[in-house]
Amino acid sequence: MALTAEGVPFTEYSGWTTRGRDGATGEPFGEVHGILNHHTAGSNSLRAVAVDGAPALPAPLAHTFLPKSGVAVLVSCHRANHAGLAALNSYTAIVNETAIPKPSKASGTVDGNDRLYGIEVENLGDDRDTYTRAQYDTWVRWNAALCRHHGWGAGSCAGHLETSVEGKVDPRGPVEGYGRRGRFTFTTAQLRADVHERLEHPASWSPDQASTPPKEITMTGPAYLNLGITGYELAPDLWDDVEFTAEWTDETGDHAANSAVFIKGPARFSGSLSLRLDHLPVGDSVQVRMTEYDGDTVVQDHPIHEVIGTPGGTYSIVSLVKRLGAGRSMRVRLLNQSTDGIEVASAVLSALAWKES
Ligand SMILES: [Zn+2]
Repeated sequence: MALTAEGVPFTEYSGWTTRGRDGATGEPFGEVHGILNHHTAGSNSLRAVAVDGAPALPAPLAHTFLPKSGVAVLVSCHRANHAGLAALNSYTAIVNETAIPKPSKASGTVDGNDRLYGIEVENLGDDRDTYTRAQYDTWVRWNAALCRHHGWGAGSCAGHLETSVEGKVDPRGPVEGYGRRGRFTFTTAQLRADVHERLEHPASWSPDQASTPPKEITMTGPAYLNLGITGYELAPDLWDDVEFTAEWTDETGDHAANSAVFIKGPARFSGSLSLRLDHLPVGDSVQVRMTEYDGDTVVQDHPIHEVIGTPGGTYSIVSLVKRLGAGRSMRVRLLNQSTDGIEVASAVLSALAWKES
């Protein structure tokens, strides 16, 4: 049905397909020519709207009740007591979808209950009680669903205050937000603009939502890491883990002795690896990269840094900056691209690290 296609979340109040005021007044509902929007001016009003009614006003008091949860409740599909007398001038504008003038009793009146859909949206109406984001989203969808079903434009949607000859002020009040929009004050013009925007899209459309603020991350640190290894052979053509045997400082406590893992996630770190390579032929290269592991499984190789052989020993500093997710660990690996074995005279890692939680 139209509401489902438009993404209106709803439940059906028992008896909603038979409940109505047609029999009581002898006036059947319809033909329908528009929609009238209301606030309840109360709370927990479902029973009142559906069954109990108001003083001197038998229920149903609308076709749909829309609580703060945003899940609409269908209470009637027949004639309902929500609109009262509508000024003829404003009713005519709703039918014609033209600008709605101030309601004038002198222009004549029509019984709005015969010809308008009604929705009661839960709000105290005190200009302080706030319509929730979910409530407003459903509100727009519900209006758009009826417009789409009947082939109407958003000009067929109005507020009770625009037709009432009894001084009604509803609906009014602040709205928590809609789509990318933050808090705003309800107006029927804004409701029509939002319904119009929906109608420009397929019924399945949803407005872009404001991005949710990023989760708060607690960082502890920085801890200082200073690890190293001296004097070992690096065979050609093999990615080789740098196993730090010298542990001068490891304030993260994550570096097991003689282990290639120098840090475990979740963490962020910034530092460098100082390399001194002996016997690397001039112009040959050693590649250096960080590799991320989950246990012993490689999950990501990070970009390669190339160290090129220079006369009289080769010295290089490689930058190490990364964020490491939970359950991940990081190693430094070297690949000797020369044909002969060379010597890693020293590899010293110095970094500041922040643990995330
Ligand atoms: Zn009303």
